Amino acid sequence: MSLPSSRSGVVDGPSADVNDLLVDIGLVDHHVHSVVVGPVEPGDFVALVCESDRRSAAQAAGLDTQVGIAIRRWCAPLLGLPAGIAGDDYLDYRRGLTNEAAAARLLPSAGFDALLVDTGYQANRLVATAEFGRLAGAPAHTIVRLEALAEQVAGSSPTALGFAAAFESALAAAARGAVGLKSIIAYRDGLDFDPTPPGLDEVAAHAGRWLAEIEASGTIRLTDPVLLRHVLWTGARTGLPVQVHAGFGDTDLDLHRADPLLMTGFLRATEGVCPVLLLHNYPFHRQAGYLAQMFPHVYLDVGLAVNYTGVQSRQVIAESLELAPFTKVLFSSDAWGAPELHLLGSWLFRRGMARVIGEWVTAGDWTIEDARRSIELIAGGNARRVYGLAAAPFRDPAASS
Ligand SMILES: [Zn+2]
Repeated sequence: MSLPSSRSGVVDGPSADVNDLLVDIGLVDHHVHSVVVGPVEPGDFVALVCESDRRSAAQAAGLDTQVGIAIRRWCAPLLGLPAGIAGDDYLDYRRGLTNEAAAARLLPSAGFDALLVDTGYQANRLVATAEFGRLAGAPAHTIVRLEALAEQVAGSSPTALGFAAAFESALAAAARGAVGLKSIIAYRDGLDFDPTPPGLDEVAAHAGRWLAEIEASGTIRLTDPVLLRHVLWTGARTGLPVQVHAGFGDTDLDLHRADPLLMTGFLRATEGVCPVLLLHNYPFHRQAGYLAQMFPHVYLDVGLAVNYTGVQSRQVIAESLELAPFTKVLFSSDAWGAPELHLLGSWLFRRGMARVIGEWVTAGDWTIEDARRSIELIAGGNARRVYGLAAAPFRDPAASS
C-alpha cells in the first residue's frame, strides 16, 4: 500500500471529511487487465491510450484528449516529470522506459486492495497475472472470458455433437481458479440477442458449421449468435458472477447495439440464476442505473469511461449515482496495457467521487455517514460481496502516514 501523501493533492472535493475517506480507501478493481511487456514506442503508447483499434485514429488524436491531458497532469509527476508536460516530451521519455518499469513506479500509488483480471484479451502481450498483482501490491484474481474459452475448445477439435459437453467441462475446470466470468457478446453480436438458451440440437448444428469454417479458414473467432448465446447461458448456469460488456468499446462493436436496455429480456431470464455485472456502459450508464434498480441481480460500473472522459469523469460518476442503488455500483478501471490507465482509473475515481459526494455533504443533502457507507460499498464492499472475496484488510490509520 502506498503512502496516502502521494494521493493527497489528487482528492480535492469541498468536504475535508469526504476527501479523507477517498484518499485512504483501498479499491477492488472488479474489471481490469494486465500491462503490456517491453518498451513502448510513441506510436504504440498513443494506441494504448485510445480505445479505437485503428492506429491511424490513435495517431490523429495523440495525447490531445481528455485521457492524454490527465496522463500528463497526474502520471508525469510520478515519473519525475513536470505536471502538464508537453505530449511529445512525455512520449519521448516514455520510449526510454520499459512498460514494466513504468508500472513499478505508477501502480503502487493506485491503492488497489484486489484486482479482478480479465485474462482473455491479447494475453500473449501482457505481464502474467501473478506478476501484475505483485507490481500493484494487491492480490490478483482471474475472470474467465467465455468467448476466448469457447475458441480454445473449438481449437481442440471436438466433434459438433461433443462441443457443448467439451465447453462445459472446460468451463468447470477454468471456473475452479476464477472468481467470475465475462462475456463480449456486445462485440461479437449485439445486446439485442435472443434471451432464451438455445436447444442442444441447435447448438450442435451451429457448432458443426463453425468447426467446418475453422477447418477451411484456419482462423478461430466465435461470432455465431446461437453459439454466443449458448456460451453465455452455460456461464450463467454456473452461478458465478457474469460480467457483460455494454456501451463504449472499440470498432468491433456497433455502439447502437450495445445499450444494456437491449438485454432486458436476458436480465429477466437470469434473475435467481447468477449476478450480472454491466461493464462500463458509457454513454448508456443511466440506462444501466435503471436496470440495477429494477433487477436484484444487476450491477454496474463506469470504468473505461472514467479514464477516457478525464476531468469530465466527475460528471459521468455523478450520473452513475442517480438511479442505481449504492449496493449495486462497483469501481473498475478497465485499464489495459499502459499502467498510466490503471493509475488514472483509481485517481480519477477518487477525485470525481470526492467532488460529487463532497458537494452533497457540504450542502447538507447527505450526512458524512451516508458518504462513508456509499463510498465503502462502491470502492470494494460490493465487489467483495458479489465475488465472494475476503473482507478488506485492516489498516491502522496511525501506520499509514
Ligand atoms: Zn476489459
